[in-house]
Amino acid sequence: MKILMYSVRDDEMPAINAWAKRNQVTVATNQEDMSSQTVGLAQGYDGVVIVQHAAIDSAVVYQKLHEYGIKQLGLRSAGYDVVDLPAAKANDLIVTNVPAYSPRSVAEYSLAQTFRLIRNLELFDARGAHQDFRWGGLIAHEIHTLTIGIIGAGRIGGTAARLFHALGATVLANDLVENDDLKDVLTYVDKETLLKKADVVDLHPDLNPSSTHLLSTAEFQLMKPSAVLINASRGPVIDTKALVTALKEKQLAGVAIDAIEGEQEFNNFDLTGKTIKNQQFVELQKMPNVILTPHIGFYTNVAVQNMVDISLDDAKKIIEGGQATHPVE
Ligand code: NAD
Repeated sequence: MKILMYSVRDDEMPAINAWAKRNQVTVATNQEDMSSQTVGLAQGYDGVVIVQHAAIDSAVVYQKLHEYGIKQLGLRSAGYDVVDLPAAKANDLIVTNVPAYSPRSVAEYSLAQTFRLIRNLELFDARGAHQDFRWGGLIAHEIHTLTIGIIGAGRIGGTAARLFHALGATVLANDLVENDDLKDVLTYVDKETLLKKADVVDLHPDLNPSSTHLLSTAEFQLMKPSAVLINASRGPVIDTKALVTALKEKQLAGVAIDAIEGEQEFNNFDLTGKTIKNQQFVELQKMPNVILTPHIGFYTNVAVQNMVDISLDDAKKIIEGGQATHPVE
């Protein structure tokens, strides 16, 4: 059996080599995104696994994979919007994804940024950068004295809730559905109550019409001026323009953003010395109480290992004629 993995990063290689050895399968790799230009590389392989931000550019890709006798198209990401599902189906390709590679990875990101914000570390960094070593005005809050408000208590939000509860914080949550298993660590409330009471608002919904611009002008007005906000879910969950205004008007104290509208322009690129077009992002970059990271919540040892293992396991099952564990319907 021979599988070709596209868009492979160096940090994935140890997991790929270990999986290949364990399963006695030949796994070849390249650094190309899957496209009409690169699909030819898959000729002679039994299966393919991809990960990419850009959508597959042409239906020709699916036709070619079918012609090469390939039966699946594995994604080693949760998102599968880069794939044209009807075109894949029309060419007898079973598409698989990795729905949850490590909820803990993003939950720990929220925890890390919560501590950074409630200890005012980014503000001390800014002072220290110009040799101002005073403490004045930056007294910290201990986590067990705070209320954390989690919007979207699913896999990641639920994991975050358990971590915050274990540290002694009061945890409120708002979700479209209530999960009885979480009721020992959190209390469900409506969104308005959560926004009014939370010292830390932590966003973890999936992106859907109900969560698009979930936080906008009216919601920021409900938040405590001392509260901080973390978004490691999806960019459009926050109305970025309204966020910039709310920060300027001091309606909230600080924010950590891992996912932002228009992030495709800069995420995982080295743009040293280049101009960024996204004006809201540029404004946020200038604010000392804003922490911006390039969608790295997922980027941990455990998550990368799981993305490789789970996607390759499914590819192998399909090639052997079995059922995939994570088919995308
Ligand atoms: P999930 O589907 O397990 O949980 C999402 C929860 O949000 C569900 O319980 C759902 O009912 C709830 N929800 C949806 N719309 C809502 C709304 N309008 N109001 C309140 N609750 C709402 O998803 P997950 O696996 O926990 O992922 C959560 C988010 O994290 C997703 O947006 C995902 O794309 C993102 N994510 C980010 C990274 C990163 O690197 N930063 C990595 C993985 C996932």
